[in-house]
Amino acid sequence: MLALQETDCRIRELERMKSDIPARQGKETLRLDEHKKKLAQSEDALKHKHAAARELDVEVQARREKIRKLRTQQFEIKTNKEFKVFEEEIATVNEQINGLEDRELVLMQEIEDARAAVERSRSELKKQEADVQADIEVWNGKLAEIGKELASLAGRRAEQVVGIDAGRLSAYETIFTRRDRAIVPVVDGVCSGCHMNVPRFIVHDARKQAEMVRCTYCGRLLY
Ligand SMILES: [Zn+2]
Repeated sequence: MLALQETDCRIRELERMKSDIPARQGKETLRLDEHKKKLAQSEDALKHKHAAARELDVEVQARREKIRKLRTQQFEIKTNKEFKVFEEEIATVNEQINGLEDRELVLMQEIEDARAAVERSRSELKKQEADVQADIEVWNGKLAEIGKELASLAGRRAEQVVGIDAGRLSAYETIFTRRDRAIVPVVDGVCSGCHMNVPRFIVHDARKQAEMVRCTYCGRLLY
């Protein structure tokens, strides 16, 4: 029965490892989500910069159009004074165009930077995807190993229960499902399951090993 308990402990340990793996794989996928989010954010930032550049361009074009109109009107001017008023207005609009074009230059640099950031996020995501894929494969390998060991332990267990009295086996199994160990030694009169002092007559019975002896406090089987 002690050998059976060793088998059952290992089975329990493996089952626990097996049930932990999906959560670990889920965590890996979550890590990828972070990188996907980062890429989406950098792509969004680039899109906004492009939109701003288009808006600036529209503004520049509108002002150029305005200058064309002013020049056409200027041809029909009779007096020098009026001509000068038009010249001044054209100069003002030109200054505005210069200002807009300066902003365009700054924006172009920002677009370059944003594009580089997108590239960085994209290659980082690719690297992470490869890492995660590799990790998931490692976990899948572990799952396969656990499966193999569990199958062999099931075979061993089937052999170990042969010859064990049905009542003992069922008592053992009931305790084992609730406790870390179902069978524990009494050491110096103390149950090693619950660390309580076991009454002397129980220690005596345990030593005889004639029948199943249980700890009065925790119910574990004693030897
Ligand atoms: Zn006990």
